[in-house]
Amino acid sequence: SKFGKVRTCNVVPPPDRGQAECNIAVLGITGSGKSALTVKFLTKRFISEYDPNLEDTYTSEEIVDQHPVLVKIMDTADQDGPVNCERYLTWATAFLVVYSIDNRQSFEGCQQYLDAVTLHTKGLQPKTAIILVGNKLDMERYRQVSKSDGVDLASRYRCLFFEVSACLDFTSVQHMFYEAVRETRRE
Ligand code: GDP
Ligand code: MG
Repeated sequence: SKFGKVRTCNVVPPPDRGQAECNIAVLGITGSGKSALTVKFLTKRFISEYDPNLEDTYTSEEIVDQHPVLVKIMDTADQDGPVNCERYLTWATAFLVVYSIDNRQSFEGCQQYLDAVTLHTKGLQPKTAIILVGNKLDMERYRQVSKSDGVDLASRYRCLFFEVSACLDFTSVQHMFYEAVRETRRE
């Protein structure tokens, strides 16, 4: 397989009965770093060149707070925003909406994703996790989106917010994905 322990969904054996699962859809405009964050979480490595049109779903067995969970990640590759979005809206139990802090347009692009996701998840039980992610924190010098803009947008949609970098430490990227898992566990 491409990333060692990572396998695509269709070759994974059926999970044990009762095993916890979390389906995470990674959304955002092209170039925001969705694939880089996904690959970082799965392999601890930063892959700088990744086919921007490739959409795939990966599965990883994780232990979050001593509890095993089968984490599935759909690394989406929308071409024109959330136009054909049923495939991930109906599948996901958690959404990471990603922008790049050095690109204002990517931040503005998040709003339509947050609208689509909140419209879909409104009133749904169990609760769906939504996390706004400001990626490329290592590009601080070229920042076009302030941290408080991120905080404000997240509070408008009542979602969590993280600033991370796919090419810096693994722990903060892992923490963000684990928070998505924890959010779907919480009542
Ligand atoms: P996607 O289209 O949202 O999947 O974006 P990619 O993951 O393909 O990343 C787009 C570009 O941004 C690539 O050139 C990556 O190397 C770069 N990139 C992704 N994440 C980071 C990051 O955290 N920091 C920096 N400096 N570059 C990043
Ligand atoms: Mg990609």
